[in-house]
Amino acid sequence: MSSSLRIAAVTLALAAAPLTAQQYPTSWDPAHLNRPDVKAALAHLEAGFPKQVDEWIKIAQMPGKSGHEQQRGAYVKAEMEKAGLRVSVDSMGNVTGLRKGSGGGPTIVFAAHMDIVHSLETNTTVRRAGDTLHAPGIFDNSASVANMLATIRALNAANIVTTGDLIFVGTVQEELGLRGMDYWFKKNPKPDLLIAMDGGLGAVSYGALGIYWTRYRFKSEGAHTLRSRGMPTPVKALADAVQRIYALQPAPLPNGAVINIGQVHGGEIFNGIPQDLYFTVDLRTPDPTLLDSLDRRITRMVQEAADREKVKLVVEVEQKNGAGGTERMLEPKRRHPLVQTAIDIQKHLKVDFGMPGAAEAIPSGSTDANVGVVLGVPSIAIGRSQGGNQHTLTEWAHWPSALQGTKLTLLLATTFGDGIKPVTTRFVP
Ligand SMILES: [Zn+2]
Repeated sequence: MSSSLRIAAVTLALAAAPLTAQQYPTSWDPAHLNRPDVKAALAHLEAGFPKQVDEWIKIAQMPGKSGHEQQRGAYVKAEMEKAGLRVSVDSMGNVTGLRKGSGGGPTIVFAAHMDIVHSLETNTTVRRAGDTLHAPGIFDNSASVANMLATIRALNAANIVTTGDLIFVGTVQEELGLRGMDYWFKKNPKPDLLIAMDGGLGAVSYGALGIYWTRYRFKSEGAHTLRSRGMPTPVKALADAVQRIYALQPAPLPNGAVINIGQVHGGEIFNGIPQDLYFTVDLRTPDPTLLDSLDRRITRMVQEAADREKVKLVVEVEQKNGAGGTERMLEPKRRHPLVQTAIDIQKHLKVDFGMPGAAEAIPSGSTDANVGVVLGVPSIAIGRSQGGNQHTLTEWAHWPSALQGTKLTLLLATTFGDGIKPVTTRFVP
């Protein structure tokens, strides 16, 4: 292109959009819907949707507490095998089904976590009332597991051939700090795209909120109250450390950090110095540098408090999930066509984004996609249906919208299955 032509093109582009608009490449082309195989796959999803909802309910009623996903895993494995995928189960229990491409295309991972937060004793019997399903775990994340299986079957029914490999993963222990996905990435080659199926239908999440959980445990000899005066006590060390942590006050989220002390435990009796006390820190920020610097600073402060009081400190790291970056740091990731394509498909599907003006894309996230974001794999999390009260006993899901969530998954597979190139650019004010 000559330089004068290029200037003309740029001028045209600027005239077509407000000056403040951002340009986001997208691979979504409505003409994609004219493909007979894509049409057939969508029709298959619609026709099979009542059965999909039944299967969703069936999955939701299986035990699924993190670390106890075996029954769900066995079910997903069997269904993937029936669909002709090459299935493997790793030592943690992640179920991986490969739908081999014809060659030369991108590798795309779709991940739906199979675990739920609720204990094995929780009654997960699903109650259906109108367009709503009620049960602990019905929304997070049984819906996505059913969406994933329905997507695989629709691709097969319509004989869709992609050049790239589609890899469907039922992950474990997502609710314990993304442990299953973390392990999966250690054992498998990096894919070209990662799509986590987890969250309410609406905004597409393309970032990763870093989360560190640490337990600070103080130990001392202990002593009877009558001999306690002037003796080292973990209570003073803990009180001192907690005060200093609350005095830190970093800049707030979304670009700063939040620090919460969620547990303080220890001591058994009135009449003695306790021998064992601990408190926990939940530290969260999207900024990887801030995450590590705050973590080191807190640990140093707690160590100093222990030293001053002459008690022993044991630092127990419960989980460390890396941070993907602040909104500014994530701008290149926002420009990857994966993000805008998912938004555009949702608009085509008339997904309800909630309130007017609600964000279409969120530069944060707490799903299996985080693992990919931190490792530099283009990654998003997409919703499964509308719903709410996840992680509580009153969890519910709006079942008709799961059809939109499943179509979104299918259309992402067919759009990117042969390549990732954007077809056009959207101007987003
Ligand atoms: Zn979830």
